[in-house]
Amino acid sequence: MARTFFILLLIWGSLWAVESFQVGSVTLFAVKDLDTNMGSAILLNKEGVSGSNQSSINAFLIVSGETAVLIDTGMNGELQTNLKEIGYETDAIRQIVITHMHNDHIGGLISEGRKNFSNAMVYLPENDLRFWRNSTPENKRAAEELKSVYGENLKTYGWGDQIFPFLQAVRADGHTPGHSAFLISSEGEKLLIVSDLIHFLAVQMADPTRAVVFDVDPQTAVSTRVRLLNLAANTKIPIAGMHIPYPGIGRVAKAVNGGFIFIPEGS
Ligand SMILES: [Zn+2]
Repeated sequence: MARTFFILLLIWGSLWAVESFQVGSVTLFAVKDLDTNMGSAILLNKEGVSGSNQSSINAFLIVSGETAVLIDTGMNGELQTNLKEIGYETDAIRQIVITHMHNDHIGGLISEGRKNFSNAMVYLPENDLRFWRNSTPENKRAAEELKSVYGENLKTYGWGDQIFPFLQAVRADGHTPGHSAFLISSEGEKLLIVSDLIHFLAVQMADPTRAVVFDVDPQTAVSTRVRLLNLAANTKIPIAGMHIPYPGIGRVAKAVNGGFIFIPEGS
């Protein structure tokens, strides 16, 4: 009986655990919003690909001393519950940086027209905001809602901006015009949050030229993916991705055929 209880506790623990990763003195928590499964339908070129792809919607909380920065917000799945698990109520989050303005990244900012993070400053990529305001009615509405709900608490950033001493925005356009990666640096250690560089892990690591239907500019998305995966492989800087299966953190190595291999952290 006691043993069964212990096993149940272990299962419970693994269901709720929020994984963390250390970069110098900075702690990176991988905060899951949802488990997802995306099939080959998300690929522009589906040739030779069948079956589905286990994926996640991840956000990351970066904690450096008293400063906590949430990167992306998911889409109102388990994110808030998982943040609480590591001691952060939504009103304790004062800084949120958005990688790009797709709904699975900004959706968790608002519930039923009200802000979920009452004390947060929200940083949006300036090129996405400009694009969103001049594109589809749906995108325009999303940009307007953010402005009306967060008002003065919205800021924009550009590539190269050192938003915090340990966090720099890195150009990663293609998926959206303002899509950004983030370089975390602390005490000589680094990690690159690659955001939506990867949606279908097995296929896009082996062949980074495969774009997805959500890419606003597929050709640029491909060259960005090749550039950043090469950077990660050459420098051995670990990466963290929003749609790499949870916790979404690992290292990149080059494969013999021009592709890449993802080595999950801890494996
Ligand atoms: Zn996404």
